[in-house]
Amino acid sequence: MPMRSLDDFAYSKLAELERATLRRTLAETLREDGLWVKRDGRRLLSFSCNDYLNLSHHPALKAAATAAIAHYGVGAGASRLVTGNNPLFRELEERLARLKGTEAACVFGSGYLANAGIIPALAGASDLILIDELAHACLWAGTNLSRARTLVLRHNDVAHAKALLSENRARARNTLLVTDGVFSMDGDLAPLQELAALCAAFDTWLMTDDAHGLGVIGGGRGSAFAAGGARVPLQMGTLSKAIGGYGGYLCASRAVIDLMKTRARTLIYSTALPPAMVAAAIAALTIIESEPELTAKPLAKARAFTSHLGLAQAQSPIVPLIIGEPEAALQLSNKLADEGFLVTPIRPPTVPVGTARLRFAFTALHPDEEIARLAEAVRPLVALAPARREIPKEMAKCPPSS
Ligand SMILES: *Cc1c(COP(=O)(O)O)cnc(C)c1O
Repeated sequence: MPMRSLDDFAYSKLAELERATLRRTLAETLREDGLWVKRDGRRLLSFSCNDYLNLSHHPALKAAATAAIAHYGVGAGASRLVTGNNPLFRELEERLARLKGTEAACVFGSGYLANAGIIPALAGASDLILIDELAHACLWAGTNLSRARTLVLRHNDVAHAKALLSENRARARNTLLVTDGVFSMDGDLAPLQELAALCAAFDTWLMTDDAHGLGVIGGGRGSAFAAGGARVPLQMGTLSKAIGGYGGYLCASRAVIDLMKTRARTLIYSTALPPAMVAAAIAALTIIESEPELTAKPLAKARAFTSHLGLAQAQSPIVPLIIGEPEAALQLSNKLADEGFLVTPIRPPTVPVGTARLRFAFTALHPDEEIARLAEAVRPLVALAPARREIPKEMAKCPPSS
């Protein structure tokens, strides 16, 4: 039975979003080869998938997942702490830890669940969390769930981090600094060497979200290994981007991982990943470890695009083109679709107000001639985009709420 006040609430929220061109809807999309998509009867080359190595359709991953289904069925049956801890988890965690150079790893149901579980297991009301203003929504979710005192860092501003730590570190029991390693909507890298040195000096635990680093940066090992390497004691990430499947993980010391397995609520109270996803991730890591030339490709493709257009050289496979207003970003995205390219517009609250954008994600299999054709289609837009983005303080991305 519909409830009047409830539906009135929903309709008025939707109307408000509609007026601001911020209403989102789902478009049915077929991904049949990890590169091209079918949507609204059109075949489009996707620059909006995070499947950087196109592994979601790789025969080795399909075979591993299919074999796991044949052996173990479709669902995990329960949480990992009950009966869901298939032996494949041990192998995957050993492989992740080896790749990241940590003692141990813990696999979660998704990247979002990982952050929502890890941060509250490490920090509480007497603690302090410093978080980059452009950190991913699920780092904010974990931070808010922790109830720690929270200070917002100006984006990638090490001097600001130092000032905040100098002033506030002594009053907190423990302090955690959380940041994306590769920023998901900007494609830039966190200055991890500098942040690691700062955190060491202030007895602060550095945690990176490497969702967009694993498999594509630092020889495939992620953002902590780019630019000479940085000591990052908490390296979190996802199995749903370059790894091509689904799931999340934390790589850390044995003690931290043991703590997660007994305290992280999103591990304890959520059903384990299906065994097929674990098997697929193991197959993906084998490819990443044995094909360094493959892991180098997405960044090389992104750089081909930025050099075609004379933009600042890409630091990751993600290249943003800031447009400004959501309406304009939507129109440009529609124009590119007419040229055969899928480039989804990114709007607030995913990005700060006033910085709606096109976000291009490059993958290993994007044909060079299509990248050149895309660059030509985008060229007239570059002139329109603001040359440099400054994020006024009040525009900082806040935990998405109303
Ligand atoms: C996609 C993403 C996540 C969430 O990972 P899922 O496995 O998709 O839940 C977390 N952090 C960042 C930076 C991401 O881009």
